[in-house]
Amino acid sequence: MPATRLMPTDEAADLIELTREICRKELAPHVDDAERKREFPASTFRTLGQAGLLSLPYPEEFGGADQPYEVYLQVVEEIASVWMSVAVGVSVHSLTAYPVAEFGSRAQQEALLPGMLSGEQLGAYCLSEPLAGSDIASMATRATRATGSAAGWTLKGTKAWISHAGHADYYLTFARTADTGAKGLSTFIVPGHAPGLTFAEPERKMGLHCDPVAQVTFDGVAVEADRIVGDEGQGMHIALSALDSGRLGIAAAATGLAQGALDHAVAYAKERQQFGRSISSFQGVAFMLADMEAAVTSARATYLHAARLKDAGRPFGKEAAVAKLVATDAAMKVTTDAVQVLGGAGYTEDFPLERYLREAKVTQIFEGTNQIQRLVISRAVLGS
Ligand SMILES: Cc1cc2nc3c(=O)[nH]c(=O)nc-3n(C[C@H](O)[C@H](O)[C@H](O)COP(=O)(O)OP(=O)(O)OC[C@H]3O[C@@H](n4cnc5c(N)ncnc54)[C@H](O)[C@@H]3O)c2cc1C
Repeated sequence: MPATRLMPTDEAADLIELTREICRKELAPHVDDAERKREFPASTFRTLGQAGLLSLPYPEEFGGADQPYEVYLQVVEEIASVWMSVAVGVSVHSLTAYPVAEFGSRAQQEALLPGMLSGEQLGAYCLSEPLAGSDIASMATRATRATGSAAGWTLKGTKAWISHAGHADYYLTFARTADTGAKGLSTFIVPGHAPGLTFAEPERKMGLHCDPVAQVTFDGVAVEADRIVGDEGQGMHIALSALDSGRLGIAAAATGLAQGALDHAVAYAKERQQFGRSISSFQGVAFMLADMEAAVTSARATYLHAARLKDAGRPFGKEAAVAKLVATDAAMKVTTDAVQVLGGAGYTEDFPLERYLREAKVTQIFEGTNQIQRLVISRAVLGS
């Protein structure tokens, strides 16, 4: 059953209808096969870009759609209910445009945003490192000022877990420009074809098989002077600010994943007969479905609340952390219970529920683990 949505404008309601149609016609027919073959869905990203769905929360003057964040997130949720790898890809890509849109110079915005927002260029977000995961301030990748006649920077180091590695057109990269801990980080845009940029084999992970994730090594990569985003030393602030918004993308995607799992479970429960009647007539099953519906609805409410604060220009960092925590824990619980509703069939690859369950797990880990979300929330609550 499609989620009941209260959209702020008719235009926003049309965008949801457009997304549902694209999901039905372009995504649903390919998802199972592509996930099995672990294919990168480049043409799907192009389709979404052409439909204007990769640029929703950004200014119209650079090719965006000037939509409120609450609208963009509901589009991500709809995509995730059908194809989680693509929804995560949309969220990651959107995250890579954010630093340029918020902190970039006018010249950078004019030069870079139209390509990013049209979907012609796909982005990757290079923050994590093998030895710097939750503790991003300890990152070792270094940017040094180029010497001699060449102005600009030289990047050296290795990033880990980078979504779209080897497929992205540009790499939004955080690197150390001074030995002053969190205050010594800066942000760079590195073109995907830059000499010295290499990619390891993709990680062999549990799910999200169409979202390749790999280490990215910068071996003396030259970056032009005008490709530093924001001020030198502003990197930590930019990364944390981007993650506040990015976490909402993951919360919305997790909600969509849970909604998709619930829809499959409801359809199966109505069909499947045991003891001479539909299993949905057993209260033990019906109450499970009721709890799943309550979890999905609550998850949606938390991310929409945070998004509406953001849209109103109010602080929303704590609420984004709450949304990420609530929605991703809901996705884990709902997908687990959805497998249960299908019984043995849920444990097979003949139904997509085992994939939804595998995909839910990572939402509790990336863009800040749920322990880190609790850290953010408790600090806000305690004023520490
Ligand atoms: C599929 C996938 C895609 C990803 N995509 C990207 C990407 O595109 N770009 C990118 O930069 N990164 C990406 N990541 C990295 C992701 O953000 C990190 O995995 C995450 O931040 C956690 O870091 P870590 O894996 O090093 O775990 P660690 O930081 O080593 O944490 C290990 C455990 O310790 C806990 N822990 C750590 N510190 C604390 C603390 N202070 N208090 C309580 N518990 C703590 C954690 O919660 C976790 O349970 C991706 C990861 C995955 C799995």
